[in-house]
Amino acid sequence: MTAAYDVIVIGSGPAGYVCAIRCAQLGKKVAVVEQWADDKGKPVLGGTCLNVGCIPSKALLDSSHKFLEAKEHFSDHGIGLGDPQINVATMMQRKDQIVGQLTGGVAGLLKHNQIDVVQGRGKLLANRKVEVQAPDGSEAVYEAENIVLAAGSLPIDIPVAPVDQVHIVDSTGALVFDAVPERLGVIGAGVIGLELGSVWGRLGAEVVLLEAMDSFLPSMDAQIAKEGQKLFKKQGLDIRLGARVTGSEVVDGKVHVNYATGDETHTEIFDRLIVSVGRRAQTGELFAEDSGVTMDERGCVFVNDVCSTEAPGVWAIGDMVRGPMLAHKGSEEGVMVAEQIAGHHHPLNYDLIPSIIYTHPEIAGVGKTEQELKAEGVKFKVGTFPFAAIGRALAAGDSDGMIKIIADENTDQLLGAHCVGPSAADLVQQLLIAMEFGSSAEDIQMMVFGHPTLSEAVHEAALAVDGKAIHMANRKKR
Ligand code: FAD
Ligand code: NAD
Repeated sequence: MTAAYDVIVIGSGPAGYVCAIRCAQLGKKVAVVEQWADDKGKPVLGGTCLNVGCIPSKALLDSSHKFLEAKEHFSDHGIGLGDPQINVATMMQRKDQIVGQLTGGVAGLLKHNQIDVVQGRGKLLANRKVEVQAPDGSEAVYEAENIVLAAGSLPIDIPVAPVDQVHIVDSTGALVFDAVPERLGVIGAGVIGLELGSVWGRLGAEVVLLEAMDSFLPSMDAQIAKEGQKLFKKQGLDIRLGARVTGSEVVDGKVHVNYATGDETHTEIFDRLIVSVGRRAQTGELFAEDSGVTMDERGCVFVNDVCSTEAPGVWAIGDMVRGPMLAHKGSEEGVMVAEQIAGHHHPLNYDLIPSIIYTHPEIAGVGKTEQELKAEGVKFKVGTFPFAAIGRALAAGDSDGMIKIIADENTDQLLGAHCVGPSAADLVQQLLIAMEFGSSAEDIQMMVFGHPTLSEAVHEAALAVDGKAIHMANRKKR
């Protein structure tokens, strides 16, 4: 047996490293076990989010957005650039540099907080012991008062499109293409399909998304999803709903994909194919049978509402437990668990976790959707406002989309906020803060919003809830 700790965290993604830092801030002696290593054998910190998820995808989304702006919109401002060219290698170097800066930052923060990084694959044994297999094959066992499992998730594979990371790739492969594919196929029109499909579409690829479901983004508010679908179509993303992929084959460097819609069968030929059909919890060989940890029916580690597993002193957080697979959800669970380990009560409001798709325009939502409230039989009122009537959006040439606020018909309390439009994520976050404080639509109506800002859309949508919007013709009158 080697060193004993107060807390051992398995996994250094946004759930694990945040939990470790907060535990250390609360005076605990902490170790983080991480299995990921770079080509020099050094530990890679930051998990999916920093290395192959949120951050690199957003770097490419920003590069490709700037390219499209230069190509199609700068001339509207009188700026002539000729025919802009994309240097994919430079774009990738920039992305890698940002990832390096942030993962180095996490290493620095762990060091500053005197957290030990133990390199290797961790496995929970009985009685809060953790066996770590180092990259050289050697094994050591550590023990702690509390163990936090934060091993994250992996892309789901489908047998009809086996990933080879050359022609058929998952999200990780789609972040490192060395050239813009002429024709790009995407299986799954969810968050990753839309974000990475947008990246390569903006750079010139013809993008076809094959989505099994008949409805588009069913977990988002239906009105906002419909508006988003219209805008993506305008941008050239070819989204085919109700498309069941039945097989694929790589022939002479091209991917032939067979799929069915209803009774019809189709074949498409692509240069590259991205498989983005969801992710699954990474639980393989993470805990011994006698560890006391159990699984739920969806293949996640079973936890209660405060992230405690069925084994005393063992917690699990982030993508490997129920709820949305989002970095901010995992991080806040990490803080919640650290506070509990220190004996503090610190619940997390799972009803107010924002969902964001970082396309352009962004799509964001928090709280209840209109379809959820209808299903629950709740009486509500809705205010929507288009960005086409927001001066700042027009000035920026970025006025597609709308914002929508839903309030309780009887109490006026805000129940949901949904948006497709410029800076949708930040606008919805404003409403999330209001919702957390139990605000009514009237509270927002009576606030002063700076002019000219995109935030004025929040104000106008809140006014529209009661038919009082100023800068559009209201349907309802007061
Ligand atoms: P992870 O980040 O997956 O980290 C788990 C870590 O545990 C890894 O480093 C892994 O190596 C390590 N590990 C696993 N098993 C062991 C073991 N046995 N021993 C030691 N170490 C182990 N979310 C957002 O909120 N916003 C976004 O914009 C966003 N964009 C995304 C884009 C893409 C392309 C992808 C793929 C995901 C994106 N996500 C986004 C999701 C986000 O990345 C995840 O929700 C988040 O990373 C989950 O954090 P985690 O700490 O639970 O797990
Ligand atoms: P997703 O669940 O968002 O989308 C998967 C899509 O694939 C769904 O629309 C589903 O109906 C479809 N699908 C499933 N099987 C299919 C099949 N056989 N054929 C065709 N379509 C099929 O999952 P994702 O896009 O892979 O992303 C994985 C996770 O990563 C998500 O949970 C998401 O929360 C997270 N993520 C978040 C962000 C963000 O917050 N901006 C970005 C990327 C990823």
